[in-house]
Amino acid sequence: ARFRGCSDDGVRITMESALTARDRVGVQDFVLLENHTSEAAFMENLRKRFKENLIYTYIGSVLVSVNPYKDLEIYTKNHMERYRGVNFYEVSPHIYAVSDNSYRSMRTERKDQCILISGESGAGKTEASKKILQYYAVTCPASDQVETVKDRLLQSNPVLEAFGNAKTLRNDNSSRFGKYMDIQFDFKGAPVGGHILNYLLEKSRVVHQNHGERNFHIFYQLIEGGEEDLLRRLGLERNPQQYQYLVKGNCPKVSSINDRSDWKVVRKALSVIGFNEDEVEELLNIIASVLHLGNIQYGGEDSGNAYITTDTQIKYLARLLGVDGLVLKEALTHKTIIAKGEELKSPLNLEQAASARDALSKAVYGRTFTWLVNKINVSLAYKDETHKNASVIGLLDIYGFEVFQHNSFEQFCINYCNEKLQQLFIELTLKSEQDEYEAEGITWEPVQYFNNKIICDLVEEKFKGIISILDEECLRPGDASDFTFLEKLENTVGGHAHLTTHKLADGKTRKVMGREEFRLLHYAGEVNYNVNGVLSCTHSLCLVCPQVMCMSNNKILTQCFDRAELKDSKRPETAATQFKTSLAKLMEILMSKEPSYVRCIKPNDAKQAGRFDEVLIRHQVKYLGLMENLRVRRAGFAYRRHYETFLQRYKSLCPETWPSWQGKLADGVSTLVKHLGYKPEEYKLGRSKIFIRFPKTLFATEDALET
Ligand code: ATP
Ligand code: MG
Repeated sequence: ARFRGCSDDGVRITMESALTARDRVGVQDFVLLENHTSEAAFMENLRKRFKENLIYTYIGSVLVSVNPYKDLEIYTKNHMERYRGVNFYEVSPHIYAVSDNSYRSMRTERKDQCILISGESGAGKTEASKKILQYYAVTCPASDQVETVKDRLLQSNPVLEAFGNAKTLRNDNSSRFGKYMDIQFDFKGAPVGGHILNYLLEKSRVVHQNHGERNFHIFYQLIEGGEEDLLRRLGLERNPQQYQYLVKGNCPKVSSINDRSDWKVVRKALSVIGFNEDEVEELLNIIASVLHLGNIQYGGEDSGNAYITTDTQIKYLARLLGVDGLVLKEALTHKTIIAKGEELKSPLNLEQAASARDALSKAVYGRTFTWLVNKINVSLAYKDETHKNASVIGLLDIYGFEVFQHNSFEQFCINYCNEKLQQLFIELTLKSEQDEYEAEGITWEPVQYFNNKIICDLVEEKFKGIISILDEECLRPGDASDFTFLEKLENTVGGHAHLTTHKLADGKTRKVMGREEFRLLHYAGEVNYNVNGVLSCTHSLCLVCPQVMCMSNNKILTQCFDRAELKDSKRPETAATQFKTSLAKLMEILMSKEPSYVRCIKPNDAKQAGRFDEVLIRHQVKYLGLMENLRVRRAGFAYRRHYETFLQRYKSLCPETWPSWQGKLADGVSTLVKHLGYKPEEYKLGRSKIFIRFPKTLFATEDALET
């Protein structure tokens, strides 16, 4: 390529001038845009490149990726080789360049790395993380033992996806949990182990799906793919429509998904990871039990006590879970309160019983998922003690900012998480910019930016943060309700600049249903959160059901439901606090590593190739904070290169540096740019790099090469 700085296609570029190439395919780094503050210019560049199937573009070292919704021939072994050990800027932008760059930094600087992948549902986060993993699996050195680790790392994906992904309206394979995965490398740079942390599985999906959506893949895989005698043992029929938990979305089949062949993949993956037959059987017993639970029906008057009318289900459940049928029946129709050390049982009405049943299903599934992650971690843990000093690359594949018509507690957690990540991003990006200037001995010019710490504090501050207030209401006996939570919110933080508790966009809703929303002004925009059900959502499970699960002879369940937890008289932690704590831990992990960023964008809502929906994409550019990112990156200098690289490329433009410069590199560059007529305000010379303030200076030099 004549000009690697702006084109991705070396072959065609030699036939065109750099200028027309820039017109056609745009610039491969947004910092090279003439008008970097113009959103229109940003969008235009993204569109041009998308048209040419150039889905990757940089903002400095941040990779922006647009989902092509078609298979591009850019992930072959050849491509992997092309990016191996090559300088970031020497080749066109690619997820492999980011992977390789992190790997090399880890090796040469001995510093742990992390790659943070963000973007909305369907933007390509999970695909990106898989590409990174594949890159390491193929390009990193290996030994025999390492082969099994690589296999297990790769095979953990289909298992986690079966249990944690589902078909949604936005994505046929949507991850319904957040995932952080460490890949550990030994001193030779071979992958030797891994560890996964999971965040906030969307448990509500187990019992309910919106129209056009499905439950987690595993249910359909088991029903469609499970062998005859297996299904017989589990008491299941080969028809998803038979199960209440699978019919809510009215979407048993998805054209892009083959449940039967996926079943085979998952079964194989489970054995690669090291599940023995007994464990698989116990795991499937639980999955089948959830389906049977869903088919339990109740009889009784609305106000009277509920009783179970479906004894077949109880029979199956008793057998699969290894619990007493009568005890189970009682658990599904009564609640137990422990008051002053005494157990009090009271009957439930229809509505309460149904929600107790669903709560149990969610708890069983959720805890089994966590168990599964732990089990995978045991299998990925590196066994050899000499590997103690491994270096790490962490991959974060976590839900992006979400705004729906109706936003609940789950969206609140997700957006809070994004708020934290944004804070980390701003801090680290600014810091690394500042560090580089300092290292190069160039004066740092402070950049104005929006610090979203104020919003994080509003959510998580002790005593007067939203989560604290929610906890207080959750654990307060008596008349606490969703509404009293809202009231308390108004009284405590009502005057906050980023929170509104009573202004509803739609006046009618307010009149009919009372004030049931609060609005947060996030860094990415305003979101209304509905508080209906928020208290029950964050409450821990009522006592009866865990008691029964502790009695189960299913070994997985006895690990999931710990007896000790029942006796624990401490105030139970609410889901909100648990999430806050796990996020704080995640931030600590990420802070200790050197970050790289992949920002994924979804081009349209129709999951279609070639369609570039301007409005949709502009929203994401905003939510992802890309313009702000670009502004920070461009605040000082658009372009920076090592003296050697710069001289090598442009030495032919100056008789004194051609064919080679004999003196110090810095002097060579200085001579060269003076000869080219650079004005003092256009550039600065650091210790090892030249910094160029405007793209046009660079482009002029680049075009000079052409003539
Ligand atoms: P969610 O938040 O719902 O989990 P996501 O960001 O993880 O969404 P993916 O599952 O990675 O989204 O991508 C959605 C779909 O888009 C994939 O199943 C695949 O069909 C397509 N896709 C994503 N990235 C690519 C790519 N690089 N090349 C081809 N197709 C892709
Ligand atoms: Mg995903």
